[in-house]
Amino acid sequence: MAKPRKIKAVNVDDLSTWVRYKNGLCDDCNATCCTLPVEVRLSDLIRMELITEFEAEHESPKNIAKQLSKQGIVEHFNFKTSIFTLTRMSNNDCLYLDRQTRRCTIYDKRPTTCRKHPQVGPKANHCAYIKRK
Ligand code: SF4
Ligand code: SF4
Repeated sequence: MAKPRKIKAVNVDDLSTWVRYKNGLCDDCNATCCTLPVEVRLSDLIRMELITEFEAEHESPKNIAKQLSKQGIVEHFNFKTSIFTLTRMSNNDCLYLDRQTRRCTIYDKRPTTCRKHPQVGPKANHCAYIKRK
C-alpha cells in the first residue's frame, strides 16, 4: 500500500510549502500575502494618492521617501532602483490591511505588486494560503 503523503503546513517564509493558487482561495484566507514586503514605484504612490504627479516629476525620489518615511508609510527606499517598500506593522501586516476583516483598505488603488500577486511574485501562481480563524 502506498504511504500517505505528508502535507506540509504552509509557512510564508518557505516557498516549498506554498500552494497553487486557484479562484476563490482568497475568500477565507488570512491574507498572508499582505504580510510580505510590498515594493512600490512612483506611479503606485500617485495612484494611492500619496503624492501628486507634479511632485513625482519635480521632487527627488529621495525627498519623497523621506516624507513618506516620516508619515510612517514607507519603511525602506532603494536609492539605486527608486523602489519604495511599504511599512509593515509589528505583526508584519501591511499598513493598509484591516486587522479585523483581513481585507485591503485601499483595494481599488492598491499597488501593482499586489495586483499581480500571485501570478507574479516570489513563486509564480503559488501563494501562502492560510485559512482565516
Ligand atoms: S495568500 Fe493567496 S489566498 Fe491568501 S489572500 Fe493572498 S493570494 Fe489570496
Ligand atoms: S496594499 Fe492592500 S493588497 Fe497590497 S499588501 Fe497592503 S493590504 Fe495587501
